[in-house]
Amino acid sequence: MTKGPTLSYKAEYIWIDGTEPTARLRSKTRILADGAELPDWGFDGSSTNQAPGDKSDCVLKPVFTCPDPIRGGDHKLVLCEVFLVDGTPHITNQRALLRPIAEKYAAQESWYGMEQEYTFFKDGRPLGFPERGFPAPQGFYYCGVGADEVFGREIVERHMDACLDAGLKLSGINAEVMPGQWEFQIGPAGPLEVGDHMWIARWLLYRIAEEFDVSATLDPKPVEGDWNGAGAHTNFSTKAMREGYDAIITACEALAEKAQEHVTGYGADIERRLTGMHETAPWSEFSYGVSDRGASVRIPWQVEVDKKGYIEDRRPNANIDPYVVARLITGTCCEALEKAGQV
Ligand code: ADP
Ligand code: MN
Ligand code: MN
Ligand code: MN
Repeated sequence: MTKGPTLSYKAEYIWIDGTEPTARLRSKTRILADGAELPDWGFDGSSTNQAPGDKSDCVLKPVFTCPDPIRGGDHKLVLCEVFLVDGTPHITNQRALLRPIAEKYAAQESWYGMEQEYTFFKDGRPLGFPERGFPAPQGFYYCGVGADEVFGREIVERHMDACLDAGLKLSGINAEVMPGQWEFQIGPAGPLEVGDHMWIARWLLYRIAEEFDVSATLDPKPVEGDWNGAGAHTNFSTKAMREGYDAIITACEALAEKAQEHVTGYGADIERRLTGMHETAPWSEFSYGVSDRGASVRIPWQVEVDKKGYIEDRRPNANIDPYVVARLITGTCCEALEKAGQV
C-alpha cells in the first residue's frame, strides 16, 4: 500500500458492464502523473458483454470521482459512463438515460435514500450458516449483537469507514434478518448522486470483503424457504412532499398508476422476493399505507403525524440498478406532481 506524497497517482476506473440480467462492476487501474486530469479511457467490450470481438473498443468517461480509501494518499476512485467510439452512450449506460429526467425535474429537488441489503458468502453458503443444515430460525439476527448472532461485522465496519473516507453520503448500517445479511444506506442524495454513491459503495464492499476471502451478493433471494430476501427499499421525496401531505398522496397514487412498469425496472427475479411473505407485498398487486411493512409503498408514521416528509418504495430488489429506479420514480412522481400543480 502506497501512502503519502507520490509523483504519480493511481486512478481506479470503475464501470458497469453488460452482464444480463444483472450488470456487474468492473475496474482497472491507470497510473497518472501528479496533478494530471482524468482522461477518457477504453476497454475491451467483448469481455464484458458490451461489444462484439471485431469492434471491441468501448469508451470510459469519468463522471464521479472520490478519494480511494483503500490505497489512500492522492489515489482516486473514478466512476465512469460507458460510450461507443462514435460518442453516443452505450446501450447498457443507464446513467445516460437518467440524466435528462433528472435535469427536467431538477427544480422539484428529488431526494433519495436507498437501503442496500446484501449477503456475505463463504465456502458456498451464507456467512454464519453451518456446513450442514441450517442455523437457528430468523428472530434474533436483525440488529443483533454477539458471536452467535452476528457474522461479518469486521468487514462491515471496514466498509463503513471506507465509505466515509471516500466522502460518500452513507447514512447508516445494520445487521439484517438472516445470518450473514446486512444493510447500508445511502442518502439523502439527488437522483444521479444516489446511484453514483451506491455503485462506489458496492465496489468498496466487494473489494474489502475480498481481503477476508468473503464475497458479497446482491441476490434478492439468496436462500429459498423461510429466510428473508434482500431488497433495496427506496425512500423518496420532493420539495413539495417535504412540505405537505397532498404531494405525498399524489406521489403514491402516481406510483399505483404505473405499478407494473416500475416492477419491471426494480431488479431481476423480483417475483422470487415479492411473494407477500417476509415483509413484502406481492409483486403483482400495488398497495400503500401508513406504517405498513406489508405494503408496496410505506408512508412512515412520523410522516403522517407531521403531514409532510417522504415515502418508502419497498419493492426494489437488492440487485437494482439505482439509476433505473431513480429514473422511474422521479419520472413518475415529478410528472404527476407537476400535472397536479403541486410543485
Ligand atoms: P428503514 O426504517 O426503512 O429501515 P432506513 O433508516 O434504513 O429506513 O433508511 C432510510 C433512508 O431514507 C436513509 O438513507 C435516510 O437518509 C433517507 N431519508 C430520510 N429522509 C428522507 C427524505 N426526506 N427523502 C428521501 N430520503 C430520506
Ligand atoms: Mn433500513
Ligand atoms: Mn432492511
Ligand atoms: Mn426500509
